[in-house]
Amino acid sequence: MFKVISAAKYWDGEVDLLVMGKNTENVAQNAAKIKDVSSVIRFDGDHLEHLLAEDAAKIVEMLSNNYQVILAAHSWFSRNFLPRVAAILNVSLITDVLKIENNNVYTRAIYAGNVHAKIQSKDPIQLLTIHTSLFEVCTKDGGDAKIIKKDTPPATNLTSWKSEKINKSDRPALIDAKIVISGGRSLGSEENFDKVLSPLVDKVGAALGATRSAVDAGYAPNEIQVGQTGVVVAPELYMAVGVSGANQHVYGMKDSRVVVAINNDPDATIFQFADYGLVADLFDAIPEINKLIKE
Ligand SMILES: Cc1cc2nc3c(=O)[nH]c(=O)nc-3n(C[C@H](O)[C@H](O)[C@H](O)COP(=O)(O)OP(=O)(O)OC[C@H]3O[C@@H](n4cnc5c(N)ncnc54)[C@H](O)[C@@H]3O)c2cc1C
Repeated sequence: MFKVISAAKYWDGEVDLLVMGKNTENVAQNAAKIKDVSSVIRFDGDHLEHLLAEDAAKIVEMLSNNYQVILAAHSWFSRNFLPRVAAILNVSLITDVLKIENNNVYTRAIYAGNVHAKIQSKDPIQLLTIHTSLFEVCTKDGGDAKIIKKDTPPATNLTSWKSEKINKSDRPALIDAKIVISGGRSLGSEENFDKVLSPLVDKVGAALGATRSAVDAGYAPNEIQVGQTGVVVAPELYMAVGVSGANQHVYGMKDSRVVVAINNDPDATIFQFADYGLVADLFDAIPEINKLIKE
């Protein structure tokens, strides 16, 4: 959110923040303290507790007449509901914007980040998702925005929330961890994935990541997949363990400050993106590294 506000400041004009959910008073009050936010628009309702794409889209549609630009982070949630908003408003959704220039000119990544396309939108409403790792965090306090509570539209009832299963972890969240250690299919099993990587991950306070192949093989849960169709991370240190370096994976970690790759194939593509590379069998290297790191 803080980076999306920085992105919004590329346009002249006021920046308003939309808050939707159940019992959103505290969230709205905290949001009102963010510098450069003019108003916090608040929609509250029982049916917004587990916010569904259809209900979120309805609310954005209601507000859209007042805005020329609507932005969100390029997250799972925005990828779920903003295509619906685009269809309702009959405008394009410009996703994963890397750079914003004057006159609604944007740079965005295509082909898993291999090509950067520069495009100009002539739509009356600019609807964007932002590649947040490339934008600065805005000033988080010092603001005094108005909080405007709006009447919440009734549930669309096109879909309904049934249940959710959240994997709780004491580890830092992947998205804001300073260190991310990711494993690939080469770990060979769910048991190995945990047994080999967890001691190191926990010793250095890292978040655990995985390639899609590791997720598809059932070695790691879906929510820790790094990449084009997973989470995009930009930590201080990214360690790729037995990861080949496919475009779709690299897309999700290439903005990391320092990349370390461990792979037993000296020609593995991941080495092209690594600051430090170790050609070794991960089953030897990871326990050795773990031993060398002091508690
Ligand atoms: C539309 C689409 C979207 C995708 N999105 C994503 C995404 O978001 N994220 C993602 O990760 N992938 C994604 N993929 C999949 C991607 O193309 C690759 O298939 C995947 O990243 C490969 O995973 P991997 O590196 O674990 O496996 P592999 O390609 O099997 O590579 C394993 C690597 O481990 C090395 N290795 C093997 N044994 C050892 C050992 N003992 N010690 C050290 N190294 C060893 C090998 O040399 C090899 O380099 C997507 C693909 C498509 C088509």
